[in-house]
Amino acid sequence: KIITLKDLCLVTKTAPMASDVHGGRAKCLQRLIRLDMPVPTTVALSFDAVRSIAAGQGVESSQILRYFGPGPLLSVRPSSMDPDWGGPGAILNIGMNDAKHAELVELIGEEAATLTYMTHIQTFAVDIARLDAEEFHIPDRPGTDSLRAMLAAYESEMDEEFPQDVGAQLASVLRSMARAWEGTTARLLRQAKGAPADAGLGLVVQEMALPMGPGVSGSGVMQFIDSATGTRKINGRFVPQVSHSAGLRDQAGALYLTRDPRGPSLEDQAPEAFRQLIAFGALGRDRLREEMEIKFILEDGRLAILDAVRAQRSSRADVRVAVDLALSGVISQDEAVMRVKPTALSELLHRQIASDAERDFLANGIAASPGAASGRLVFTASEAQASAARSEPCILIRRETTPEDIRGMHASVAVVTLRGGITSHAAVIGRGMGLPCIVGAADIDIDERKRQITVPDGRTLNAGDMITVDGTKGQLLAGTPKMHEAALDDAFQTLLAWADEARDIGIRANADTPADAQTARNFAAQGIGLCRTEHMFFHGERVDLMREMIFAETPTGRASVLERLLPLQRSDFTELFRIMQGQPVCIRLFDPPLHEFLPAGKSGKRELAELLDVPLAQVISRVEDLSEYNPMLGMRGVRLGITVPEIYEMQARAIFEATVAIGEEGDAVVPEIMIPLVSAMREVELVQSRVDAVAAAVRAETGVDFTYRLGVMVETPRAALRAEDIAQHAAFLSFGTNDLTQMTYGLSRDDAGKFMSDYVNQRVYEEDPFHTLDLDGVGELLKLGAERGRQGRPDVTLSICGEHGGHTNAIAFCRAQGFDYVSCSPFRVPVARLAAAQLAL
Ligand code: PEP
Ligand code: MG
Repeated sequence: KIITLKDLCLVTKTAPMASDVHGGRAKCLQRLIRLDMPVPTTVALSFDAVRSIAAGQGVESSQILRYFGPGPLLSVRPSSMDPDWGGPGAILNIGMNDAKHAELVELIGEEAATLTYMTHIQTFAVDIARLDAEEFHIPDRPGTDSLRAMLAAYESEMDEEFPQDVGAQLASVLRSMARAWEGTTARLLRQAKGAPADAGLGLVVQEMALPMGPGVSGSGVMQFIDSATGTRKINGRFVPQVSHSAGLRDQAGALYLTRDPRGPSLEDQAPEAFRQLIAFGALGRDRLREEMEIKFILEDGRLAILDAVRAQRSSRADVRVAVDLALSGVISQDEAVMRVKPTALSELLHRQIASDAERDFLANGIAASPGAASGRLVFTASEAQASAARSEPCILIRRETTPEDIRGMHASVAVVTLRGGITSHAAVIGRGMGLPCIVGAADIDIDERKRQITVPDGRTLNAGDMITVDGTKGQLLAGTPKMHEAALDDAFQTLLAWADEARDIGIRANADTPADAQTARNFAAQGIGLCRTEHMFFHGERVDLMREMIFAETPTGRASVLERLLPLQRSDFTELFRIMQGQPVCIRLFDPPLHEFLPAGKSGKRELAELLDVPLAQVISRVEDLSEYNPMLGMRGVRLGITVPEIYEMQARAIFEATVAIGEEGDAVVPEIMIPLVSAMREVELVQSRVDAVAAAVRAETGVDFTYRLGVMVETPRAALRAEDIAQHAAFLSFGTNDLTQMTYGLSRDDAGKFMSDYVNQRVYEEDPFHTLDLDGVGELLKLGAERGRQGRPDVTLSICGEHGGHTNAIAFCRAQGFDYVSCSPFRVPVARLAAAQLAL
């Protein structure tokens, strides 16, 4: 292949550089040159040139060397399209040889010169010639003897002398780096970061500026923001050459950058270079529109800029930098919104384990609710409550959680379950509460009697031991690693306000309790899209009342218990309406199978018998009556509403009375009532006529007029198929994609966790469909359901409210289908607001 000028290019202000031909580093260096920064002579090799070098065709070194003066020292650095894709490490001091060594001895002294030469031989031997590192060890005090010995070692291993010719060294370095890029591991690593299979590597050959000389000399990096917070602050380091010549190879001699009472600083020792660096930082920010980290050399007081890259930073700093750049007019608001990854926001909403913290790993599970927390290990809800009463943070571990564990979850700082998937009870509740949670941690052995767990490496932990849950990564850790606090600062709020200006789909929250609703409100959700009312019955005296109702033999018996539940529900709804201040609140009528409220164990049944003052045998037989082979497909949702209508009537009455009460406080609300698990139009018709009757009764009793909207939760395939006639009776359709996924796949949402990783690893499914909405199958039903729903009622309101609601792919899909809003767990709301804005921009 003939190497053209384009393939091999001296980087100048006008050279034709492009990041998809020469890579990002070359392109960036050109920008620095255009800004008149003192960048040493740089030559860029294109992806094609590097490919042909890897294939053994090669560029003549002389073609490159003609751009440099005689006897140069060179560096070669990788330049791929995206710096995240990695690449071979930089190789420095190419051209170092006996003659250069002699020159350096004059300049910086024997020991420092020898150290520089030996370091180069070592790198060349190990990284380029791939010789055994053991043979190329540098002693603490390198001298002529050790240098000779190293050169001899090279010669005996390679059967030739260490190359003295810069061209020969350069050719070997280029070949080695070009081939390293083609290696299988490197290829897999970059593909995992999103690089295409044919991603190319460019190489940048640069004249070395030497951090050596009688004046201030050394090498450094400088950036202008605090990497953790993003606030403006000069930091970095500068290592003067004097510390090299003293034989110190660490950074013991580093200077402070800015004036500092603790010791000498670059600002004092080289004020002109310092001033220039500050000016270059500002220039980079204005013209490259990014906070840069500048890599520089001082050679006898003269500044050389080797490189400038985007400053590394935390997610929190990322938000602040984007907002600050927009506020100072460097980028637009929209660009600031586009620059922050939505997933990075969820890191800011929760405490996280610090990135540099040590992790004492115990076990893996499914990352079900993000954030991290440390606490003492407890095994039951009552232990958790006792611990909370002592103000001792605790972490609840269960095989799986049941409604009875809700109190324990409230008392814990994190939850771990051995069973269950991403839509299991613990996962849903955990996300709603913002509680870090791992589910499906099947590798943990639990012995409830001994109050002990055993993890895969054989370690045993007892109740009371300190552990940490990383719900973001799905890891259980021992001890208490260092954490970063959540950071809902002004920059975060500003960015989201800008996102809302751009967004064109509504975002509501799934919220069951006043605390959830407050979180939803704080995160500016546009209402509640799903209030799962059964979650209101899972705690305190309410479980007992529910149990009493379930045991009531007659409608009148049932009615009397429901009468006691009514005021409790009414105050729940009043509170939700009050917090949401006139925003829509969509209340789903009771959904789960009744037996979920009954105790599972013997002792629980005995307690219940005591509470109800009935024989134990009666409790046992009632529990048996209610047990089902397949409760998820049994007597739940609207089926309960049809067969035990008193429950829905009580709930409807509570909703309407709360509506009247709130109206009297001045906040008019139009409640939305949603019927779960519908599969036939007649179900809706029946519930509608009963709810209408309750509304009429409440209007008559109170003398207050109000309206409400009745809607249907589409979560069975049949409801999607029959959406046209269902919509005749429904003002809105909300797709419950958890159950819809379960029923479309015929895949139990509570059991799928056990084999899901096998399925995903073998690519049966691309992703866990309970986590990432399956656009091909479930999506098809959504599309069809939406179309048919609109045929039945052109102005029907459409939304989704399953756990998928806050994910970018689901939001994109819902936008494309013209849905009105998505609803997701409260802590996901900010992420969804940003993701939706980015889709609209
Ligand atoms: C659903 O099925 O998608 C849903 C939101 O309801 P739940 O998770 O309570 O079954
Ligand atoms: Mg459901």
